[in-house]
Amino acid sequence: MKNYFALLFAFFLLYGCGGSNEKKQELIPYELHGEAQGTTFTVKYLSKDSLDLSREVMDILVNIDQELSLWVDSSELCKFNRQSLSTRYIDSSSIYFPSVFKLSKEVFQRTNGAFNPAVMPLVKYWGFARKSEHPEQIDSLKIDSLMQHISFNMVQLVGAGFVYAVADFDLQLDFNAVAQGYSVDVIAELLTKNNIEHYMVEIGGEVVAKGKNAQGEWWTIGIDKPKDNNTDRELQAVVHLENRALATSGNYRKFYEKDGIKYSHTIDPSTGYPVQHTLLSASVFASDCGTADAYATAFMVMGVEKTKEFLKKNPDLKLDVYLIFSDEKGEFKTWISEGIKEKIDEEN
Ligand code: AMP
Ligand code: MG
Repeated sequence: MKNYFALLFAFFLLYGCGGSNEKKQELIPYELHGEAQGTTFTVKYLSKDSLDLSREVMDILVNIDQELSLWVDSSELCKFNRQSLSTRYIDSSSIYFPSVFKLSKEVFQRTNGAFNPAVMPLVKYWGFARKSEHPEQIDSLKIDSLMQHISFNMVQLVGAGFVYAVADFDLQLDFNAVAQGYSVDVIAELLTKNNIEHYMVEIGGEVVAKGKNAQGEWWTIGIDKPKDNNTDRELQAVVHLENRALATSGNYRKFYEKDGIKYSHTIDPSTGYPVQHTLLSASVFASDCGTADAYATAFMVMGVEKTKEFLKKNPDLKLDVYLIFSDEKGEFKTWISEGIKEKIDEEN
């Protein structure tokens, strides 16, 4: 998520759609494209009336950035991180920060700390934060000392959403593993509030789909092959997303290589090191995209077997998962949870 908001915008207006499965009603398809959060976004929706929501979408993205971005020095998150104090404040008009904080706490607790936004000092150490560089030599003592400052337990919301008690003065937060998915939810909410029943919102591969597309079919979303530098977006699978959210984390998305070892941007908070295992990509299906995004990161930390165990032990979360991992020969293998077996077409 860098250079969050150069918003490019294209807008298409077509008339007279409404597929065979829909009642015969004229719906107007809209399509917005732009750049946000260091990536691209697409919003497609079908409206009964002419309704241009481009301005509102842009405002939401800018406002989220003002609260949650690590690339905007004046954001509430950056201000929070700069207050090396036991009581920290964010602006009392903030809505996104408290909401993402709460969601993050839940997922942190559920995953036993595999998802941990307080991992920020280690994200910096490994050179995946803004203005940070990958280490020349790995310094295990330094990693041990940074590990003393990544306890998300050390920060509590006190009363209203803008006062936080922080027991560790050096604690800093990074919401990059959840902010994109969460932003998708906020835009989806805008569409729902405007009585739009058919839409698809996507930011950097994190998606929510409701209802059907302009052809009257379920929205279909591609899942990338987890190949390094997959710039031409070769697909591993195509998913039918039926009133659900989908988020994908992958170690092919951001990594560096040194002395033949690949270091990915997902940090295992229990070791302080980038995760090293065979799981290449975790796609999570949930009722909202913030949740899907947070668990996708957590599952990248857990790896294949622990993710399967987690799903078994936490059926109430109603998550589904599509995992892509490499076998001993380095070939791609996949695992699909029961609830989405019918919804995924794997490519050969
Ligand atoms: P994602 O692409 O959603 O998996 O998010 C990855 C980003 O989240 C990284 O670039 C880091 O900024 C941050 N991050 C890395 N490891 C973790 C972790 N274990 N828990 C939460 N955030 C993390
Ligand atoms: Mg994530």
